[in-house]
Amino acid sequence: MAFRKMWAALLVVAVLALGLALRPTPFSIASLFGVTGQPAPQRNTQPTPQSAARSNPHALSDLSPLQSREGSIKKADLIRTIRGNTVSLRGQALTNWQKWREGVEQLSLEHPGQVYIGGAPLGNRVCLTFDDGPDRRNTPRILDILRDHGVAATFFVLGENAEAFPQVLQRMDREGHLVASHSFTHPRFTKATEAAIRSELDRTARTLVKTIGKAPALFRPPYGDIDRAVLPLLEQGGYKTVIWSLDPFDWDRKTPEEISDYVIENARAGDIVLLHSGGNGGATAKALPSMIAGLRQKGFVFVTVAELLAVDDYQ
Ligand SMILES: [Zn+2]
Repeated sequence: MAFRKMWAALLVVAVLALGLALRPTPFSIASLFGVTGQPAPQRNTQPTPQSAARSNPHALSDLSPLQSREGSIKKADLIRTIRGNTVSLRGQALTNWQKWREGVEQLSLEHPGQVYIGGAPLGNRVCLTFDDGPDRRNTPRILDILRDHGVAATFFVLGENAEAFPQVLQRMDREGHLVASHSFTHPRFTKATEAAIRSELDRTARTLVKTIGKAPALFRPPYGDIDRAVLPLLEQGGYKTVIWSLDPFDWDRKTPEEISDYVIENARAGDIVLLHSGGNGGATAKALPSMIAGLRQKGFVFVTVAELLAVDDYQ
């Protein structure tokens, strides 16, 4: 009897091992589900701008005559304009936002390979990025939806929240998402001292190393607040700076439909979409299923920021 039990146990172990061996990585799951009726794009294959334009009419508007003539996309051809849709920014606040936008777009032009707004318009790829998490409620809901739809996303997390919810951070990593830094306490970096900035970066990196065993290589400044004085500190820390290219203002008294519709209507190949998974991410989570379906219907596939920009995911 004991002998039979042992064989049964061995059989279970063998089946489990086979299942694990055959199990696709989270990224390949994402690639499989990331396509509607067309093969998943292979890494290292470079679709021509013409083919990108054919499969997604929106890509066409991003191609300059020079790119079309040369038939190849260079680093300089990354998306460098920010689209946003705001309800409550008016008057001086709106002017300030427009000034900020021009400033970071200029900074990204001056520092290619260091400050990114968006990616190259190749392969109909877009990134969903979620800021300010993890938290107890919204981030797990967002992770559930991403898992159910086979989407790999990028989370720009706050160190203090990562410390408070280490299991949620570990889940992000385990399920194939990219974990990146968004500072420890969300201060305005252009108003902070050098020492404070270094401390914000280091404490967050230490928390990530402690929790998931990896140090972040990508950084998104809180509020997108960055200038020429802050940038060298990020470079010295080994970070590439990632702003965003499409902002539905999901925190801005929007319904899930408004958030989802804006993203679907305005998405360009190579876009980095700014969303939030922190305490205010309720509407965002509700917007996700239709946003994902709508983007897929337009032929978009979902990748992490590191994949889109072809940069290291961790240091
Ligand atoms: Zn933030």
